[in-house]
Amino acid sequence: MNEMFLLKLGEIVLKGGNRFQFENRLKTNVSRRMRPFGEFRISIVQSTVYVEPETDNCDLDGAWDACHYIFGVVSLCRCRPCEKDLDRIFDTAMAYLGDDLRCAKSFKVESRRSDKRFPLTSIGISQEIGGRIAEAIPELEVDVHNPEYTVFVEVRDRAAYVHGPADPGAGGLPTGVGGRAMVLLSGGIDSPVAGHMIAKRGVELECVHFFSYPYTSELAKDKVLELARLMTRYCGRMTVNVVGFTEIQEAIRDHCPEEYFTLIMRRFMMKISERIARDHGCGALVTGENLGQVASQTMQAMAVTAAATTLPIFQPLIGMDKEEIVTIARRIGTMETSILPYEDCCTVFTPKHPKTKPTIAQVDKACEKLDFEALIERALENTELVKVRYHG
Ligand code: ATP
Ligand code: MG
Repeated sequence: MNEMFLLKLGEIVLKGGNRFQFENRLKTNVSRRMRPFGEFRISIVQSTVYVEPETDNCDLDGAWDACHYIFGVVSLCRCRPCEKDLDRIFDTAMAYLGDDLRCAKSFKVESRRSDKRFPLTSIGISQEIGGRIAEAIPELEVDVHNPEYTVFVEVRDRAAYVHGPADPGAGGLPTGVGGRAMVLLSGGIDSPVAGHMIAKRGVELECVHFFSYPYTSELAKDKVLELARLMTRYCGRMTVNVVGFTEIQEAIRDHCPEEYFTLIMRRFMMKISERIARDHGCGALVTGENLGQVASQTMQAMAVTAAATTLPIFQPLIGMDKEEIVTIARRIGTMETSILPYEDCCTVFTPKHPKTKPTIAQVDKACEKLDFEALIERALENTELVKVRYHG
């Protein structure tokens, strides 16, 4: 029998009545993720997703790698199935894991028997297979407390499965079970991490990026699209709404007091994001805001920004230190792109002395000369939709 993968479900199993819906979504997500790598049969039995290649020309290494980035999976193993028979299990362990075992000094066998009709208990299987392996490789010691290598045997409904240590999965909940949200994606370090954290909770993402050509270059836009593409490794395909923001920024520069520039700009971002979010079925906005990081991220400034929309704003990084954010950015693979040196529209027309404790009344007064509705309408008309995906 061919090599295949077992993906173990995490929190989903706890979800009682919703479990079916969660499992079905995960199954759909896994099928979609496997598509670039060939034909696979995907099924769920006993809180485990079975991923089996259906033809000989599947790209197993590519598929295995992709499985590490699927939310809802806590751990995964690449394994070889065999008949539920001790001789077959032993032969399979030696053929499949023999090289690993010969490199180790000590080992143990850990077994699980969910097919209770199998004549031996879990402990019995481990003792039997462990004994035979120790006999076959005499220099390998049995160490049940602190082994260098562990052989796993799972006797399940359809077959027995033999594998080495499992890899950790992406965790979280399957993409799509938690609705959709709109991420305000800049070219910085924070917003991709913020989007990732919300996506991990089962939320499908869409992005909006505010682009101020020619104050920010085409390269800056490409950088944001690349960040979005990197995010899709975990959260699946996305659409990025690139909003032409130049006219709004120039209007703010020409008609508003300088100390309020950033705040007014952020209120426009919220209003435009809300409009696109509602049109696209998104129930919340996501930002990379972080308390105290910059002038526009004081409590008072965030209150003014948040009052521009009635959608909930998720700010998963609000209480984190930069170090912690950077660690996640590195782990999810967005850091290197985030630190490429292109301008963001926030850094164009930055006030020298931004207001850090504004009130809504002050900000309303500061932008009274602007025709919000007309500016927003034109920005929405001037929006480009770009679809991004990790593979292909
Ligand atoms: P980041 O590292 O994500 O750029 P930041 O620490 O630089 O965040 P700000 O520039 O104040 O903070 O932006 C705060 C948040 O506003 C960002 O995390 C992002 O969600 C959103 N944002 C900022 N600029 C843009 C933009 N040009 N397009 C879309 N969203 C933006
Ligand atoms: Mg930024």
